[in-house]
Amino acid sequence: TRPGASKKQAASVEFRNVTKNYGGVTAVDSVSFTIDAGQLVTLLGPSGCGKTTTLRMIAGLEMASAGQILIGGRDVTNLSAADRDVSMVFQSYALFPHMSVLENVAYGPSVQGASRKDAEAMAVEKLSLVGLSGLERRAPSELSGGQQQRVAVARALVLEPQVLLFDEPLSNLDAKLRRRVREDIRELQQSLNLTVAYVTHDQEEALAVSDRIIVMSNARIAQTGTPRELYEEPADLFVADFIGDANILAGTLTGVEGASADVKIDGLSVRLPHRGAKPGAVKLAVRPDAILLGEGASHGSAIAGRVKKASYLGTQIEYDVETATGDLFVVQYGRKEPIEPGTSVNVTFETHRGVAIIPGA
Ligand code: ATP
Repeated sequence: TRPGASKKQAASVEFRNVTKNYGGVTAVDSVSFTIDAGQLVTLLGPSGCGKTTTLRMIAGLEMASAGQILIGGRDVTNLSAADRDVSMVFQSYALFPHMSVLENVAYGPSVQGASRKDAEAMAVEKLSLVGLSGLERRAPSELSGGQQQRVAVARALVLEPQVLLFDEPLSNLDAKLRRRVREDIRELQQSLNLTVAYVTHDQEEALAVSDRIIVMSNARIAQTGTPRELYEEPADLFVADFIGDANILAGTLTGVEGASADVKIDGLSVRLPHRGAKPGAVKLAVRPDAILLGEGASHGSAIAGRVKKASYLGTQIEYDVETATGDLFVVQYGRKEPIEPGTSVNVTFETHRGVAIIPGA
């Protein structure tokens, strides 16, 4: 482990049928999941889906109405925040404005009984870890937003928690900085082997930083998986639409053979993993970059279409393509000549990637 790494082991987090009610509102409804030790797991979903409440229940800032919460295998359901060995980085950073950077970070260990000298030594070490050496004497108001965010991270790390929580940590940063800070957080998490639960509503951010993502919708878990699993095999229409762009197409499942299914969409026949779908009407999630456009007269199995609009964006070309089964959003990467609007095209899929039957849709 690298210098500054926690002497404590990162711990797992487990929710067993955890519910949180606020009066008549069920913010979290019988949710179960496990975050393995040393993993970064994102709680992702639209506003109001229950992700912040879930995070606050890990911290002990909210108490579960029902169910069980375990950290490192220990039942912490009824323990207060102070007894849970968890630290949280707040969206607002919540730094003390009248204290220096060093004092902000040394505060936690001081409160826990460390001598001033020891607390400051620990703070200096964590500030170095987040790249803020030399700024110890500044006031928070004399730092950029990105630097304030790092102070907040150092302040959480200095307590050497078993679990570190982030609540929308990038929302106060500009777009350019967001990308760098999320990479820094991921690097720190991996090099220190931290268990991190991370709340965001931004699907790109979640895809970029996570080992696993828990997608929430209406107080429940819609799907849990690696970024790739969620993108390639969405469990329902909500996940298909929320993670990346998806064309949702109606097809007919004509036959099942082993783990594969034959699906007909207009003039196109494709073989896909059947994912438990039964013969009859099915819905497919088709990623914009999994759609292939061929110019010229139709040949064999294809959907007939016509380019309505072409947008040249440098690294990619985006198309709106009109077909009998609805309009398709198509993205082509690589340096190709754009196809002119009005051109007739044959639409086929790259079926080994980015095309999935949505079970139960
Ligand atoms: P956001 O991204 O907007 O913060 P979220 O996914 O984090 O949303 P939560 O903050 O967990 O969602 O809220 C879930 C639901 O619980 C919402 O309907 C919210 O209004 C409600 N809620 C949250 N906190 C309280 C509270 N203290 N009292 C009453 N209702 C609450």
